[in-house]
Amino acid sequence: MLPIDFISRMSAQMGTEIDAFCQSIEQETPVSVRINEDKKAPLELPIDSPIDWCEGGYYLKERPSFTLDPFFHAGCYYVQEASSMFLQEVLLQFIYPNSVVLDLCAAPGGKSTILSEYLKENGLLVSNEVVRQRVFILAENMQKWGNGNVIVTNNKPKDFGEKLPHIFDCILVDAPCSGEGMFRKDANAREEWSEANVKMCAERQRSILSDVWEALKPGGYLIYSTCTFNQDENEKNAQWIEETLGGKIQPIDVEPEWNIVETIGYHFYPHKVKGEGFYIAIFQKPTGPIQTPSMKDKSKKGEKNVTDLAFEKSVRSWFQHPEKWTFKQQDRFMAAYPLKFKNLIEYINERFICVVLGLGAGELRGRSYAPQHAMCMLKDFRKEAFTCVEVSKEVALPYLRQEAIVLEGQPITLILLTYQGVPIGFVKNVGSHCNNLYPKEWRIRKM
Ligand code: SAM
Repeated sequence: MLPIDFISRMSAQMGTEIDAFCQSIEQETPVSVRINEDKKAPLELPIDSPIDWCEGGYYLKERPSFTLDPFFHAGCYYVQEASSMFLQEVLLQFIYPNSVVLDLCAAPGGKSTILSEYLKENGLLVSNEVVRQRVFILAENMQKWGNGNVIVTNNKPKDFGEKLPHIFDCILVDAPCSGEGMFRKDANAREEWSEANVKMCAERQRSILSDVWEALKPGGYLIYSTCTFNQDENEKNAQWIEETLGGKIQPIDVEPEWNIVETIGYHFYPHKVKGEGFYIAIFQKPTGPIQTPSMKDKSKKGEKNVTDLAFEKSVRSWFQHPEKWTFKQQDRFMAAYPLKFKNLIEYINERFICVVLGLGAGELRGRSYAPQHAMCMLKDFRKEAFTCVEVSKEVALPYLRQEAIVLEGQPITLILLTYQGVPIGFVKNVGSHCNNLYPKEWRIRKM
């Protein structure tokens, strides 16, 4: 049952379409994925049709068991709701690929995968999640997707406004909301809905927006989105952004056949589009003087000595384009991050809680230099640097459950496992069995 107060609110908003709207909420949720084209996996998904507003986005005919598909664990696609993929179209229309972008409310990471994919190596994404327990799934999803242009942080919105003024060309605030658009997927969302909660969410969204606003460059773009229908959290907040923060809302070109409803911003209603409820709007901050903190490279001559050069040389050999990366050793770990954004990344690393800094590339284990798992998920990974063994699904799945596997007749060494040519992880073959090096926290828990 839909909450009565919700229906009466929506009746005022939807007019004669209210019945069609309510019926659509009781229908099955369409299943859709976004394909990670660069991973070139021979996917076997039950594809139905492409999603009009997102290249690489597809509806599926039915929901397969993603857990039983090794390609899913290797980041070859992301299971994502179709409406929210419209972000890709907004980026195409407004944002240069060489931008520095903040995704402020990023977990579990669906929109961050769109952002990192759009920017590729030209730009940098800071993907942030304030809730500590949720930041790890964000880090996992970003590492699996495999673009190295990402820092994952665990900070409050106001940290960005205070410590990184005028740094970002674009900020996405995909705000925590009352979740009306999730009513059909999630029964809890219906139970938790109340007028008071809508009001609380709207206030919290304004507080998040004002806390982060200073971090946006003059002339830069704020993208604001929610997965809710009501005007308090959408249109009224859009008006508030214009009146209080001074952002100017921008018209987005949409094809009429997409059935997206334009008000102040753009609504995806489930009786009109094949997707969940979603709202999005983009604002430009007025131009003006840009005053960024100074972030000169503070490293002194000789400081490089702290890096074990043989370790760095070994790690470099695992990249297709090592010249595009900078390497930094911290204790027994070697991180790699894009050279192009070295100063900014180091500046952020000193001031923020960084969970992922570009890429955890290597680790000193005893006397040997071992790759970390994220290395083999990276698109710039050079798998030829390792002894590769191709495995079937019957071996891949126990491996992904972190069970010990046996590779008969294979060399006694570190081995990269591939599934249909796509890297899935490392093992250390000791002969009688292999030590499984798949990250424990990522293992498949239930089948
Ligand atoms: N953008 C994500 C995606 O595409 O996968 C979904 C984000 S979800 C709608 C909103 C996120 O905001 C949640 O991860 C939630 O933990 C986070 N959040 C909750 N309270 C917040 C606050 N006060 N400030 C910033 N983020 C908050």
